[in-house]
Amino acid sequence: MAVNILAFGPNGSGKGTQGAIVKEKYNIDHIESGAIFREHIKGGTELGMKAKAFIERGDLVPDEITIPMVLETLKKSKAKGWLLDGFPRSLAQAEALDKALKEADMPLNYVIEILLDRQIAKDRIMGRRLCANDNNHPNHIAFEAIKPVEKDGKLVCRVCGGDLSARADDQDEDAIGKRHDIYYDEKTGTMAAVNYFKKAGGAKVISVDGSTSIKAVTETIMSQLA
Ligand code: AMP
Repeated sequence: MAVNILAFGPNGSGKGTQGAIVKEKYNIDHIESGAIFREHIKGGTELGMKAKAFIERGDLVPDEITIPMVLETLKKSKAKGWLLDGFPRSLAQAEALDKALKEADMPLNYVIEILLDRQIAKDRIMGRRLCANDNNHPNHIAFEAIKPVEKDGKLVCRVCGGDLSARADDQDEDAIGKRHDIYYDEKTGTMAAVNYFKKAGGAKVISVDGSTSIKAVTETIMSQLA
């Protein structure tokens, strides 16, 4: 049976790294709203062009673009199951998602929440690097376990040797600040979305301290997944 998971955590909490591991366990699709946007921008699509300026500033892309894009992707993964990362980021998105999941008969099995102090999350964001070949190849210049390797005098992906880049919005302190303002907002932001799904019941909630090592976080999560 398909397993459906929501992954929450501030940017820089290791959510993407852990998501890539959990996805392997169940062989489900890893759906990252931010990565879908970046693909559209790379491909020069109309959606990408609309989203680009919002992303560069660290603002949310408007719901009328984001919500249908994500819901459509989820439906395509219904048979396989999915781990959704980066959505919902607001209370309004949480409500829209809840409604759509009920209508599509896609029950939520787990809510994984990685807890991390805002300053630590900020420091971590600036050191992460994106692999040009695979979004699921985590690289970070400050973490031994996922450090890029050196080849011909430059740093390349530790998994496949692919080119690495830093996201522009990861090197811009204003953009990071805005993304974290949205995340930690318990009234209408991402924390409100987390609390919405915690209160809704149904799914098992796994809350884990993200300040420990990557391995320790993985072990805590794995020990609570069936
Ligand atoms: P991420 O890769 O999750 O850090 O997302 C990068 C950027 O994509 C965010 O800063 C937003 O501009 C945009 N984005 C990603 N997910 C969403 C979402 N659920 N709602 C609105 N904008 C989003």
